[in-house]
Amino acid sequence: MIIVLKKAEMNNVNELVAFLVSKKIEINFLEDNKVLYLKGELVKLDLNQLKAFDAVEEVITLDTPYYQVLRKYQKENTVVKVKDATFGLGLEIIAGPCSVESKEQIDKIAKSLKAMGIKALRGGAYKPRTSPYTFQGLGEEGLKYLKMAGDKYNLAIVSEIMSEDDLDLFIKYVDIIQVGARNMQNYALLKKLGKVKKPILLKRGFASTVDEWLLAAEYLLSMGNKEVILCERGIRTIANGSKATLDLNVIPHLKKISHLPVIVDPSHGTGLYEYVEPMSLAAIAAGADGLIIEVHHDPKAAFSDGVQTLSLERFEKLLKKVKSLSEHLQKND
Ligand code: PEP
Ligand code: MN
Repeated sequence: MIIVLKKAEMNNVNELVAFLVSKKIEINFLEDNKVLYLKGELVKLDLNQLKAFDAVEEVITLDTPYYQVLRKYQKENTVVKVKDATFGLGLEIIAGPCSVESKEQIDKIAKSLKAMGIKALRGGAYKPRTSPYTFQGLGEEGLKYLKMAGDKYNLAIVSEIMSEDDLDLFIKYVDIIQVGARNMQNYALLKKLGKVKKPILLKRGFASTVDEWLLAAEYLLSMGNKEVILCERGIRTIANGSKATLDLNVIPHLKKISHLPVIVDPSHGTGLYEYVEPMSLAAIAAGADGLIIEVHHDPKAAFSDGVQTLSLERFEKLLKKVKSLSEHLQKND
């Protein structure tokens, strides 16, 4: 159970604390003493009696092991703003190649995306590859090329961190730090990122429940980083027509229970370029705040994930449809 305190006089808080102690309830002060997190035999407490204390602003009962990510705790949507990009307030789209391959490649793609009105550029410099024999990313050099493109075209840079050892580099070069599916439960990394003043794009692990995902987000929020964007990227199921099953149910569910922005990755979520457009439209129809899509000027030549990557031409067509769907939905809301 959570008690959110009013800007209370200390006397009022002491009165509440004494009452809770008398009931043998364990009290943890959180958020600069603005919140009490209660444990113990909470059934002994009468909610209405608690609400009658002068110090109490709100009492939140929990049927989950997390609370900061919940809309019960924060009613307004969290809005994350980076450069010109805004997540949690209308449609926002991150686009770019799976991997940064060279300065010229990322510049060329960034230039075209900018001309289409895109505000956030993705690109992997440290790649989590299943096989150790495939392209592993350019490392710091890749981050530098991303930053150059970000500065030149005023694009917010999104890139995946794989190890806490690289944190300083990410702070220097990247605007939104992506935690990939494989690292969603890397708690040492999450704890470090919770202390960073950069937004985190937290992808869902491909075998993670919603509770596990929200608990991973709770790690970040509880360590002080409130700028978290959730990203559904497909989960493993029995379906075998594509690389993953994009869980679209999770979008209305998360939008209902959480205040965090929710975006969708139809590239990794399907694994096939032909399925990216229909699933992008489906994600927007389901209420997603945005998309992250793999785009390359020559997908056949991409160093990684070419088969799920859109050409610039295909992406431009998708963008038109997605924008017009989003406008239509907003108009009829
Ligand atoms: C990626 O975005 O490049 C990536 C590897 O995604 P995921 O962690 O969702 O597999
Ligand atoms: Mn990829």
